[in-house]
Amino acid sequence: MTHSLAPDVRAARLSAADYAQRFADATPRLSAPQAVLEAERCLYCFDAPCATACPTHIDVPSFIRRISDGNLRGAARAILEANPLGGMCARVCPTENLCEAVCVRNTQEGQPVAIGRLQRFAVDALMDSAKPQLFSRAPATGKKIGVIGAGPAGLACAHSLAKQGHEVTIFDARPKAGGLNEYGLASYKTPDQFAQAEVRWLLDLGGITIRTGWKLETADQFEALRREHDALFLGMGLPNTHQLGVPGEHLGGVQDAIDFIATLRQTENLATLPIGRRVVVIGGGMTAVDAAVQAKLLGAQDVHMVYRRGPQAMSASKAEQEWAQTNGVTIHHWLAPQEIVANRVDASHVGAVRFARQSLQDGKLSPTGQTEYLEADMVFKAIGQHLGNPLLAQVGFALEDGRIATDEAGQTSLPGVWAGGDCRAGGLDLTVEAVAHGMQSAQAIHTHLMNP
Ligand SMILES: Cc1cc2nc3c(=O)[nH]c(=O)nc-3n(C[C@H](O)[C@H](O)[C@H](O)COP(=O)(O)OP(=O)(O)OC[C@H]3O[C@@H](n4cnc5c(N)ncnc54)[C@H](O)[C@@H]3O)c2cc1C
Ligand code: SF4
Repeated sequence: MTHSLAPDVRAARLSAADYAQRFADATPRLSAPQAVLEAERCLYCFDAPCATACPTHIDVPSFIRRISDGNLRGAARAILEANPLGGMCARVCPTENLCEAVCVRNTQEGQPVAIGRLQRFAVDALMDSAKPQLFSRAPATGKKIGVIGAGPAGLACAHSLAKQGHEVTIFDARPKAGGLNEYGLASYKTPDQFAQAEVRWLLDLGGITIRTGWKLETADQFEALRREHDALFLGMGLPNTHQLGVPGEHLGGVQDAIDFIATLRQTENLATLPIGRRVVVIGGGMTAVDAAVQAKLLGAQDVHMVYRRGPQAMSASKAEQEWAQTNGVTIHHWLAPQEIVANRVDASHVGAVRFARQSLQDGKLSPTGQTEYLEADMVFKAIGQHLGNPLLAQVGFALEDGRIATDEAGQTSLPGVWAGGDCRAGGLDLTVEAVAHGMQSAQAIHTHLMNP
């Protein structure tokens, strides 16, 4: 162990041109000829497996056929009717595990139709057009719905309800709407402020008011919301992070990966962000991959992503693990953090992380007795988020594994209150699933309000 140098944490490790090049769109938009060529690979399958695999059930063959016919507005309509956040989902969906995993072209040609890229092509064409609004609202119903959380679940629910003529107010604790679309997803998946452009498009429908900087914290607030609205939808995500619970977690340079990513997403100048020369990211999911890759892109020299189990147990998909490795991140398995060790020159700052090697004994994770150190100027903790809102149990919600228990349509144990997205128990924790939950609950709320 040689962490005897002062911590090396610096901003402006790269030139302006390097920042721009490294943080550019990871999957640039298809050109029109590329899109038509790709669309023509689709077999327009009957009972298309790709549409079934999509949590929002977008009619994939229908929108792809419209692209090959040159009807981009029609293609965008087919997408956005099923999924009003189809532009963001086209950028961030793990399509390799969803629609593209089951595309019949996999068996025929060894490569699926690029459904995600075609979806983005159609929605971007609409957004860039002179008249991007496609929808209008049904006559006013006089019903008011409160939505807590302006992430993909809340936005999808609000948009669908507003379309049906209801008045919706969305309340969100953050200064901007979008949830993790704005504060969480990797910046190279959603460059050019797309999250805010999408929010503007959603609000352009009318019937939706957003109150940002408003946090649901007390039972009185909750009861007032219930009195003032005909129904409520909770789409609060998982706003709290798990801590490691090891000595040294308080040291300078140790941070929640989520906070690092949010700061990165909000900065106007990447050159102002300090990054360590050696970075250790603890965790095995999408957040860990995004923090590790973006640390590397900011100019960190050595980035290690460390997970306590084997590669099969990682919640980051194989494609994401490969993406991390392609970007120069070293992935370590079977190492559990034991202590964050102080730097020898500056005892207030991290200098290394001590890990205990693990193995499976009778199916249980157990230390082998072997210890390993990784030197670090910064450590990002990415071992998961939780709801952690004591108010929910206090006001009577049934919870399951710390999340809100609901039926299939998102109805909670409290009458008139639905929930969806990451805060709902038993989900996949994906953007597209949050949208699907929002849409399902909107339909259930509409039915409930209009057929009392
Ligand atoms: C770093 C990271 C990367 C990810 N990358 C991907 C990806 O590439 N692809 C993918 O499909 N999924 C990805 N995900 C998962 C995806 O972002 C989430 O599944 C999705 O955002 C969940 O949507 P949601 O609406 O349930 O919650 P959120 O997006 O978390 O939105 C919840 C909103 O509720 C607000 N809120 C919370 N508590 C309160 C309160 N008490 N009062 C008022 N407002 C409140 C929050 O401010 C927030 O705006 C990623 C997640 C993370 C953390
Ligand atoms: S499974 Fe593939 S080929 Fe069939 S409709 Fe879907 S995208 Fe087209």
